Amino acid sequence: MNYVLRLLCLCLASFFLVNAAVGLTTALLSRAAVRMAETMRPRSAARFLFAARMLACALGAGAVLGLCVPSYLWLEPPASSERVGWACLTLALVGAATWFGSLARAAWALAASVRLNRRWQQAGSETLLPGASGRAVVMVKKGAPLVALVGVFRPRLVVSETVIRSLSAEQLDLAWQHENAHGLSRDNLKRLFLLLAPAPIPFLGGGTSLEQCWAKFSEWAADDEAVRGDSQRALALAAALLCVARMGTAPRLSFLHTSLCAGDHHLCARVERLLTLRPPAAKPLSRARCLAFGASLGTAAGITVFLAWPATLLSVHRLLELFLR
Ligand SMILES: [Zn+2]
Repeated sequence: MNYVLRLLCLCLASFFLVNAAVGLTTALLSRAAVRMAETMRPRSAARFLFAARMLACALGAGAVLGLCVPSYLWLEPPASSERVGWACLTLALVGAATWFGSLARAAWALAASVRLNRRWQQAGSETLLPGASGRAVVMVKKGAPLVALVGVFRPRLVVSETVIRSLSAEQLDLAWQHENAHGLSRDNLKRLFLLLAPAPIPFLGGGTSLEQCWAKFSEWAADDEAVRGDSQRALALAAALLCVARMGTAPRLSFLHTSLCAGDHHLCARVERLLTLRPPAAKPLSRARCLAFGASLGTAAGITVFLAWPATLLSVHRLLELFLR
């Protein structure tokens, strides 16, 4: 078989094995991860759950790019014309199927998002929100009640005219602050990564509970960042949420859109949280300690990899040889 094709088979098969092993372990531990997240502040909890969901894909990509490709290119003679064994070929095909599934999901959602954005841009006009804030948003004249952050790389706020008319200036400003918090934490881009991360077993959703909890905590975090611990602002945001929810069914959005309350199964919990606003009890790990811990872990891993690099590549290559047969 062709040298490059064999490498491709190896990469797909290795990615599938690492992604499936780590992904299934994460799925098994997801309840514990969610319980741990519940002791953190919403923003830290959202970051932690996102990292947990992406871990399998990141390790799979790391194993392929850091071990599989270099060991093959370095140690496999280009003239060798070994065949690829059935086990490796089957795993490569399953690996290709997982990637196909996730790429198709992401492409579908991106296409839906672009279509809706274009429709709103054409039907809407740029306007300034009333009140002191005067933020620029896209206002859509007709259609269902809508407050959504659209766009993956350069997100913009789209608001329907009915919502602008129904909410007070303060409530509109809070809705803007809430969506702006989603924009600052790049939640729409994270949604694209969630779609792109292949499931551990093709066409069998894995990590959905982590994704749902991530979505819940990122809503809570955006609420907290909008109200900034002020109970009056919390009350106004809760009223805005209820007002928009009562205005009727929101339009069907793409997974890549963040909406103020459409499709939000946790609306009651959110309103309740805002009504009983109190300073967070959980003590977050200090940023400096987290950074120091991450940096020392990274340095240790870097030194180990550097010292053991030739030996590691050699053992990986032996393993791959066995795997190829
Ligand atoms: Zn939100």
